[in-house]
Order: sequence, then structure tokens, then C-alpha cells
Amino acid sequence: MKEASASGRLILVGAGPGDPDLITVRGAAALQQADVVLYDELASHELLSLASDHALCINVGKRGHDSPTRSQQDIQELAVRYALEGKTVVRLKGGDPFVFGRGAEEASAAAKAGLLWEVVPGVTSALAAPAYAGIPVTDRRHAASFAVVTGHKDPTRVSRDLSWGALATAVDTLIVLMGMRNLPEIVEAIIEGGRSEATPSAAVMQGTLPEQKVVVAPLAELPAAVAEAQLGAPACVVVGDVVGLREELRWWESTPLFGRRILVTRAPHQAGELASALRAAGAVPDVRPLIDLVPCDSEEECRVIDAVLTQLENYDDVLFASSNAVRFFFHHLDRLGLGSAAANLRARILCIGSRTAQAALAGGLSAHFVLAGGRGDADSMLEEIRATLEPTGRRVLIPQSDIGRSVLPEGLRSAGARVDAVPFYRNVETEVDGPLLRNDLIAGRIDGVTFTSPSAVQRFVALLDADAHAATTRCMIAAIGPTTAHALKSAGLPADVMPDRPEVRALASALTQYVSEGQPKPIWKEEGS
Ligand code: SAH
Repeated sequence: MKEASASGRLILVGAGPGDPDLITVRGAAALQQADVVLYDELASHELLSLASDHALCINVGKRGHDSPTRSQQDIQELAVRYALEGKTVVRLKGGDPFVFGRGAEEASAAAKAGLLWEVVPGVTSALAAPAYAGIPVTDRRHAASFAVVTGHKDPTRVSRDLSWGALATAVDTLIVLMGMRNLPEIVEAIIEGGRSEATPSAAVMQGTLPEQKVVVAPLAELPAAVAEAQLGAPACVVVGDVVGLREELRWWESTPLFGRRILVTRAPHQAGELASALRAAGAVPDVRPLIDLVPCDSEEECRVIDAVLTQLENYDDVLFASSNAVRFFFHHLDRLGLGSAAANLRARILCIGSRTAQAALAGGLSAHFVLAGGRGDADSMLEEIRATLEPTGRRVLIPQSDIGRSVLPEGLRSAGARVDAVPFYRNVETEVDGPLLRNDLIAGRIDGVTFTSPSAVQRFVALLDADAHAATTRCMIAAIGPTTAHALKSAGLPADVMPDRPEVRALASALTQYVSEGQPKPIWKEEGS
């Protein structure tokens, strides 16, 4: 057997500037393989959801060079120790690991210990924060060079060994990281070095995040403007004529949903995708799952499931109404050690939605029929099956949730099919801070609420009192599809927004459209209303 330590290694991964979607494909893959993740405060915590459930994630608490909770030495020792145990250690660092991140020191420690190590470069905040502020760091008309410098090499003083005097005029665009605390001294040094006091300058705080704030001022006035706007770390400072382009190129803050707080009530497993779609649209996703989905696990439930799964050959059709149904179908097959049984299934696979079909395919089941486009609900599926799939006399399995709707089973039965609609998973209530939710709604801190299932609607309404209910009607209310919209309407919270297909990206676009058209009226009306 190989020595355990032989397979251990350290991967320094750039987490990107803030928006978790700006990690690289390779960085995401490294996280998925990690046994241990040592992450900085500056790296988005959302990225940790990419790591596997068994990965040990440790916050090593570094926030730039300010107030580290662990010394650099400790972090290096921790990384080396785990890697020597044979673990794959991902060191997740804000931005790019080799841009002022002390990544090189961590790599040296690994090299000295004789470990394998790699670096996955990241999108540095030095370029991304200006880009998201509409400031290109070079431009044929204004700037042919840029320099990225630290304003904070030694926390106790402005870094005099950095030649501000020479830098001030040697490059067109100066980008200063970690410069907020010493900003007045830095600006003074740049002006002393010969840069005009009037040079357009900016500070970009929380760049690439929906919380992004930008202050623009002539160089000499930047420290006062920054103080007035109360900007703090993390922020980067940009000095140069390119800052003038922001007026025309500020795209991120101009997106319609920019800065709006939108509640995501979806189950934790799936909330990330909606949160990411909302973030890409400029919104601040506020993830508070109201329900979760867990496998049915009582003796009674498993007895039924096991009977079905051990006789899959009896079915002519298996109908999946959601990717969750697919997920829990495979969960129970795996539980029974029947993972490969799916490959020999003779039944036709019928799916509502292309995502459901993709999930089935990922498990080795290719769909015979996919209901894509249209309303994408159980009623349209029933119509399609009746019209084209000749259900009469067929034996149909529908793996579903404990509160699955009866539209499909009953509809198919009345069309002459023999249907087993079997609960494979359960909706459970998550722990939610009800008073906080009510306060946030009443105080107007929430601009929109998204729902992707009737069960989340019911839980949400149960958490409200009369004031919070009234406050919710002032928010944008979004439903993923007709069934959820119907539940909202019954709960006295009619949906303002519903996308034309039941997908989370479409939901985010529909919200964007709703806001950009400034329409108080719903873009979707329930049929017949
Ligand atoms: N390796 C990182 C930089 C680490 S030093 C990178 O490549 O981005 C930390 C400094 O980066 C902060 O003080 C700030 O100047 C800058 N920074 C990090 N995240 C930022 C963000 N989202 N917006 C603006 N500046 C940021």
C-alpha cells in the first residue's frame, strides 16, 4: 500500500473577488475534491457548498492583513499537517492567491515539507472590482499601463519602501489594494510624486458584490469623499484617467435589481442556484430556506418503496415530476444496493421539465418523453400523456413527495392506467427565525420574496402575523410556476411575477423585467382571472 502522505497535497485556490460565481472551473473542481478546506474571510462562504459533505471546512479568519484570527505560521502548519496525513487540502484565498495573499509563503511551506502543491489562479479584485465599477484599467484612449500596489505592507506605517514618488507618474493607472486605512497619506505621496491633484480617482468597496459601493472624486478630494461615504475595507482605489469612463460604463450598478434584497425560501440543497441567478441579476439574495426535503425513512414508508424498487420490471412507465423525484429515486436505489438496476429498466421514462430529464440522464436513464416549455405543470403533463402516450392499461410508477399532488395519479387512473404514486421523500420544516423574518418584512428590508413550491408558501404564511402579511403584499412576490402561484393566491399573496417556464434563471429574468418596466401590475395572470 502507498504511504498515506504520498497522496496528500496542497492546492492554493483563488476564490475570486467576492461574487462566488467568479471562481474558476478548475478552482470549483478542486473544492469538490477537497478533504480539508482552509478558507479566508474574504473568500465567499457560499463557495463552501461546492465542497463535499465530508470535507472539513475551517475558517482561518484572515481578512486581508487586518486582525488575523490565526497567524500565518499557524495556517501554514495546519495546511502542511493535513496534507502530510494524506489529505487533499484546498487553501481558498480571496482573489488570486499570488496577489498580496501570502500564497507564495504557503506554497514555500508545502515545498519545504516535500509536499505536492498546485496553484489555481483566481480573478483578482484588483481588476474585477474596477471592472464591476465600470472602470477598465487600460484603454487605448487613456491608459497603456497599470500597476497594482499595496497600501498596507506594514500595518503600522505607510509603506515607505514602495516608491510612490516614482510610481505616481510611471504608470497610467494605479490600483491600490489594502489602502483604505492610509488613504490620506497615500494620496499625498502620489501627488508629491507629481500626479495631478485633479486626476480622476475612485474607491470601490465590496466590488462584484450586490453591496458594491463606489466613490469617485478628483485625487486630492478622494480621502474626504471616502470618509463622507463611510467606505471601508475591503476596497480598492483606482487613480487614473480611466476612472472618467465610469460615467458611461457603469453597468453593474445600473442593473434593475441591483442592491435589492430578495428572499430565497427554497430547500437548502437547491437555494444556491436561485441565489446565484439573483446575484447575477444584481440582487442581494437572502437565503432562508423554509422547507427541506429528506428521504422517506420510516419502516412503513421503506417497505412500500422497497417493494416497488425490487420489482421495477413490472412498470411500463416511470414518471418524474421534478429533479427531486429523480434524486430521491436514486437515493433509495442506492440504499438498497440497486444502483445499477436503473440501467436495465424497461419502462419508459417520462419527465416534467428538461432539468428533470437531465437529472435522470445523469443517473443513466434517458427520457422517452420530456415536457419542456409551456406551463410545465402536472395538468399540462396529463394532457400530453393522454393525447400522445396512450396510458390505457399501462402500469405507471410516480415517485413523489409525501405531499405530492394527486392531479397526475388520478388523471392517469381515470385514463385507464394502473398507477403507483409512492412517497419517496418528505417535506420538512426548517428552523427559521420567525420574529426576524416578520421584523425584516415590516421594516421594508426585503424587496422581494421568491417561492418555488406550494409547501414553502404555506410555511411562509404560517410564520406571518397580520402586519407582516400586509408588509409582504408591498414586496415583489415571485412564483416559479402556476401551482406555486395558485398557492400564493389562495394565501392572499398574489404573485406579481411568474416566468414563462418554471426555471430559476427565468425567475430571476422575470423579476428583472418586472422592475425594469416599473410595472405595479403583475406580468402574469392566472388563467381566467
Ligand atoms: N489576493 C487578493 C487580494 C488580497 S489583499 C486579490 O487578488 O484580490 C486584500 C485586499 O484586496 C483588500 O484590502 C482590498 O483592497 C482588496 N479586495 C478584496 N476583495 C475586494 C472587493 N470585493 N472589492 C474591492 N477590493 C477588494
